[in-house]
Amino acid sequence: FSSVELTQAYLQRISEHDATFNAFITVDEDSALATARTADLRLASGDADALTGIPVAHKDIFCTEGLRTSCGSKMLDNFVPPYNATVIKRFNEAGAVMLGKTNLDEFAMGSSNENSYYGAVKNPWNPDLVPGGSSGGSAAAVAARMAPAATGTDTGGSIRQPAAFCGITGLKPTYGRVSRLGMIAYASSLDQGGPLARTAEDCALLLNVMAGHDPLDSTSSDTPVEDYTAALGDRLEGLRIGLPREYFGDGLDGATGTCIQAALKELEAQGAELVDISLPSSSLTIPAYYIIAPAEASTNLSRFDGVRYGHRCEDPADLHDLYTRTREEGFGDEVKRRILVGTYALSAGYYDAYYKKAQQARRLISNDFRLALEQVDVIAGPTTPGPAFALGAKSDDPVAMYLEDVYTLAVNLAGLPGMSVPAGLADGKPVGLQLIGRHFAEARLLNVAHRFQ
Ligand code: GLN
Repeated sequence: FSSVELTQAYLQRISEHDATFNAFITVDEDSALATARTADLRLASGDADALTGIPVAHKDIFCTEGLRTSCGSKMLDNFVPPYNATVIKRFNEAGAVMLGKTNLDEFAMGSSNENSYYGAVKNPWNPDLVPGGSSGGSAAAVAARMAPAATGTDTGGSIRQPAAFCGITGLKPTYGRVSRLGMIAYASSLDQGGPLARTAEDCALLLNVMAGHDPLDSTSSDTPVEDYTAALGDRLEGLRIGLPREYFGDGLDGATGTCIQAALKELEAQGAELVDISLPSSSLTIPAYYIIAPAEASTNLSRFDGVRYGHRCEDPADLHDLYTRTREEGFGDEVKRRILVGTYALSAGYYDAYYKKAQQARRLISNDFRLALEQVDVIAGPTTPGPAFALGAKSDDPVAMYLEDVYTLAVNLAGLPGMSVPAGLADGKPVGLQLIGRHFAEARLLNVAHRFQ
């Protein structure tokens, strides 16, 4: 079948089901079909890449030239970027078809997708549950078969956690592997784009397009890119998989733990060796992240001032009034909370007590991983402490929400690649097995994840 037929089939799924799940903020049928027609010509002429003609949904945090990019915020409700993010450019060059832009927590701040200006996303397994966040729209779109694959971003778990909650596969690459140009910044030292798809193989195909050096992103790495599909079939004999004690303690839900153990047994049966390890600074992860990420966010979000782009309040009396009312009206509660926390942590007099301490904790956390990954090839554990929770269950309790991220944040603080792979169901809800690797060892993670295909 042709790309046009495939694209039409997905657009049809979206029009039938997205009223229930709210996974998309923007769908541009005409441009999707126009790209599909071009892709069909390319396919006919034999000049095709693996993703030519394949529909993909993009998190609405990647700038798309001529197509509104909201970042889930009222602040950018009217923002039409004048250029494409490098990630979008790469998908376009490969001939992939953009189905639309997916819903997310406002400025990627959240773990449930309830912080979006465009309303919450519902979990396709059960619409009373959250899909996870912040890439909840991307995960729900793939899980509900409204897109075969999607992009996401992960600052502290936003690819892995929604992938886990929606029963799909998600990969957060090594920091610097995927360009951040045109990806609206949340916490610049932690943000990383990556793929969400049904299988490890599909994630590998997407990463092949996304990964690579970008001279326009100074934190982009020039480490050579591999073919991420090449090692998928490698055997696991001799592979050492470390199980951090700290990830299997009291905080882990029983049924989730049982699923994870079964998945680990499976890897052992295929020849991997399971090794007990320790990441002793794990308890510092949540406090360090929830200082560093808001600190960076508070400076990144200072650009939304009503002057250059995005929302502007009506009839400002003076410049100060323009700034304050624009930001009061344009940002939601969680974004304001992060700006307040971050500004406070960076202010003279508190910098040493909070920000500097958090950076020191970050170093300890990184060192834990460096030592552990000298002993083992891959680290494995749960992606989340429990399965998807009910909509509204934690939305009034920011600390309960932040605790959801206990197993995912450290990977970003250490800049490592991490994946979530479907590991079965706990009480009928999907569970994610998290795999963590050495810097730039994405191919290894995909190889282990492929065992569950
Ligand atoms: N839940 C975390 C936060 O709210 C992580 C979000 C993300 O990875 N973008 O900051």
